[in-house]
Formats: sequence, C-alpha cells, structure tokens
Amino acid sequence: MRTVCWGVFVALAASLAVRAQDQVATPQLKSFTVIRAGTLIDGKSDLARHDQVIVIRGNLIDSVSDASSTKIPPGATVIDLSKATVLPGLIDSHTHIFLQGENPAEGGYDANILKYPLSLRAARATVAARRALEQGFTVLRDVETEGAGYGDVGIKQAIEGGYIPGPRLLVATRAISTTGGYPLEGYAPELDMPKGAQLIDGPVEARKAAREQLDHGADWIKVYMTHRSWVGKNGELVSQPTLTVEELKAIVDETHGWGKKVACHAYGGIGLQRALDGGCDSIEHGLAISDTQIVQMVKQGTWYCPTLAAYYTDWGPADTPAGQRDRLRASVHEESFKKALKAGVKIVFGTDMGGIPWTEPIAQEFPHMVELGMSRMDAIKSATTRAADMLEMSGQVGVVAPGAYADIIAVAGDPLKDVKELGNVQFVMKDGKVFRGEGK
Ligand SMILES: [Zn+2]
Repeated sequence: MRTVCWGVFVALAASLAVRAQDQVATPQLKSFTVIRAGTLIDGKSDLARHDQVIVIRGNLIDSVSDASSTKIPPGATVIDLSKATVLPGLIDSHTHIFLQGENPAEGGYDANILKYPLSLRAARATVAARRALEQGFTVLRDVETEGAGYGDVGIKQAIEGGYIPGPRLLVATRAISTTGGYPLEGYAPELDMPKGAQLIDGPVEARKAAREQLDHGADWIKVYMTHRSWVGKNGELVSQPTLTVEELKAIVDETHGWGKKVACHAYGGIGLQRALDGGCDSIEHGLAISDTQIVQMVKQGTWYCPTLAAYYTDWGPADTPAGQRDRLRASVHEESFKKALKAGVKIVFGTDMGGIPWTEPIAQEFPHMVELGMSRMDAIKSATTRAADMLEMSGQVGVVAPGAYADIIAVAGDPLKDVKELGNVQFVMKDGKVFRGEGK
C-alpha cells in the first residue's frame, strides 16, 4: 500500500513536471515565426533566391532555407510574403533625428536652437525615428543632435526600453568643430551664442570633448573638418578647413582607444586632406575628392558616405554666388562618387535626413547612386551588409541569415529591376516584432 501510494505520488509528480515543462515549452513554440519569401535578397549574396523560408525564434533568425526542404515548426506564426521581395532591414548611415529640414519659412536652422524647447525637439525626434522605421530603416547612424546635446542618447534609450518605436540607433551626440567652424553665426560679436556643435581649439580641448561625448554615450564621434564653401577663382569648390591634423589626431586616438570610430564631415581640399591624414574612419559628403585622396582612402580603408540627394534640393537662384555654389557642389559630387566607385572605395548609403525634411522619402538616395553607375545590388548592399561592416555589426544587422537580428522588410516589386521599389516598403519587422504590414 505504501509502495502504491509512493508510486502514485511519483506518477503525479512526474505529470506535474510534464505540465510545468509544457508551460515553459509552449511560449517557446509560439515564439517561432516563419516568413515565406517569394524572393529573398539577403544583403550578402550577389543573387536573389526564390521560394525561401525564414524561421525566426524570438528576436533572432534561426534558419533560412528552400521552401521545398523546410519543415515549418509546429505552432509557428506564418507570415506569407510569397508574392513579395524580402530584404534585411535597411541602414541609413547619416541622419539627424533632431533636425527638421531647416525650412527658412519656419526660421531655418537657427530657430531650432533659439526658439524650440528641447522637449519639442525630442518629441519631433521620436516622430523622425518612427518614420524611419515605417520606411524599413531598422538601423540609423545618427550623426549629431544640432544643439540638442545628448538628446539622441535618451531617444535611443526610449527605443531600446520599448517606450517608443524606432530603429536601432548609433548616436554621435554633440559633434565637434572649431571656433568659426559651426553655427549659430552672424550675430553681434558681443553675444555669446549657443552653437550647434561642441567647439574646441587645440588638441587638449579636442581630446577632452571626445572624452566627454564618449563618456555620455556616443557610439561614434562626429567631427566637422570643413565648414563654409564657395566657388573659387578658377571655378573650383573651396571649403574652409576647421580642425588641424593635430586636433583631429587627438580625437581619433582617444576614440579608437574606446573601441569606437570617427566620422568626418568633409567637402574637399585642405579639410578633407586633414581628415584623411588624421585617420578619420568615414568621410561624410566628400563632394570634391581628388584622385590622390581617393587612392589614400582605398589604402587606409576609409568609408565614404556620400549623401548625394541632399545636394539636389534648396538651390539658390542660378545667378547668385550661393546658387552657383549649389550647382557646382552637385556636379563635383557626381564626379567624386563615380571616381570613388571605380576605384573601389567602400561606399555606404546615407541621406542627411533631418537636413532633408523627415516628411520626404529616405529611399530617394538609391536612384541617385544607381544613376551614377552603382549596380542596384551594390546600392542595396551599401544600405545593408556594407553599412553593417562599417558599424562593426556584421552578421547582426543588414543580413537575412541565421544568428542575425530578425530585422526584415518586404517590398511588392523587384528592386533589382527598379531600385525605386525600395521607396515602397510594405512590411517591416524589427527584432522579431512586426511593426508594419501582415502579421501586425
Ligand atoms: Zn549631416
């Protein structure tokens, strides 16, 4: 009797244990999501594949395989994108979520800093972040807050904490330039005006600024190596240089010591040369890059984030110095891009959104790259695997492959036939959660 009782108890305990296991196991089963992809551009391969099945477990991609050979896990949620083209979430490597297009009718750049409470700027930054995610951009390298201090760190924390929707953010905080190297400008010299970046003079101040920004959460350090630009005596684009090589070297040395990288805004000439000699990791804009500078970029492995689209809008009238400069910027930029592409410079997709109003489409940069000779697949890679390499997130983002974050988007058409299809994203998943489209 006693043995029987014990046996019953063991059986009961075992059944309870099984039930407890079920309770643990069931949510795991439910956390499987399966995407049927009609066409898959995985961000890494040179060719698209058809009829693929992507199995997602939690927030990571578990497997990617042919539909014919894949067993769908029982209880999995199936998302049918069999008529769509599926891609990794896109990466914009040059944005400003704290800028709103600098509309002159609304007071331009200066009004941002002089008139808007930081709370308003932060609220609008959350809208910018959401808009980026809606358009399929699941990672942004946001390269400075334009006078909003460390606001980007807070927005990043709000997204990571799940309080607001948005892409994964890599933030640059305040950015660094020199006296005479950044707005606000043009006010009475007696006034101590706030500036859109942290201004330094000398290597000691430069290093200190980098330390402060890194200490407060900068993922990248952004440096302005040129400031004003104009048409020179021989019709060339001239840019005013800002930091010296010694100042930049102090920043680069400090930042690399923290295991982080330095992005340099540089249009051309002396400032771009100092950026390269000082060891910048990425050149932003690079409007007028000389042949020898292109050779140096290839040799040093410097990244190039051209932001083409930003230079085709807001041109001044053709008969004014500013209008002539604006036209020259676009034409020399095209030549620099073509030369860099031919020479094998590592090019990443970047837009300067924020400088461009957030109401405009982010994907407008793709057709500019393709029109200047980049293949459609390479343009896609510039916003996926290539950008992930620059951000040191290879294998984690910019790719649909096992082990990567489940950041996945889909478009209805074929972007390898018409790259403008990337402006019509209809499905967005970030971190395994559907943000837009089927399965939401
Ligand atoms: Zn910018």
